[in-house]
Amino acid sequence: MYRKLSRLAVAATFLVVIFVFNFIPAFAAKYYQEQTNFSETSVPLAQYSWDQDEIDVCIYKENSVPNSYYVWTKLAVQSWRQALREYTDNQEAWDITARYVKSQAALESCDVKVYIYDTYKDFHDYPAQTGAYTSVKYNDNGGDLDATVYLSPLVLHGDGKTEINLPSYAFRNSAVHEIGHVLGLGHMQSTKGYLMSPQFDFWEEKDQLPITTLELGALVKIYGTDGF
Ligand SMILES: [Zn+2]
Repeated sequence: MYRKLSRLAVAATFLVVIFVFNFIPAFAAKYYQEQTNFSETSVPLAQYSWDQDEIDVCIYKENSVPNSYYVWTKLAVQSWRQALREYTDNQEAWDITARYVKSQAALESCDVKVYIYDTYKDFHDYPAQTGAYTSVKYNDNGGDLDATVYLSPLVLHGDGKTEINLPSYAFRNSAVHEIGHVLGLGHMQSTKGYLMSPQFDFWEEKDQLPITTLELGALVKIYGTDGF
């Protein structure tokens, strides 16, 4: 009996060790995290992908919107680039860059046009769209992709009447989420809980959701480890 128990104890110790080792990532990733929620194992893909080496993201911001919103949006683009480069161990590829433009007219020549308005009421598809959204189409001539992102610190609650001034981490989460759409990711089945879930519950979440191996694996499925 005693012997059996001690053998069990050894087995238990062994299991614990395996368990602990499993949770140490291969290397210390700085720009992404390991997937933690496994109720879904893949990100649905959108019906488009980029077929060019460089993606030029331009950000237009209304004067009344504080500059930090521009910075957070630029950071959202840079987070995807750094995460993809780190995940694929490829520093040359994934050439997506973001810059500021002074006028809406200056957005015209950009691959990705980002508008940051002071209210959702300025969105081009308001009142159909009352929260951050992305619209992607293929150009008539040539078949290049053309993406437009609409962001605002002020959005409308799902109830259709309560205006919400987003806490900064919720705005940052939506910026990263929308750039995920730009890159070719669709929505998760789960309403919330994932970066690419259609909703972000900022009462429940106390910080923005990280880019994880789940989203990065989905993008590698589209572009390979060589990137776009
Ligand atoms: Zn979305």
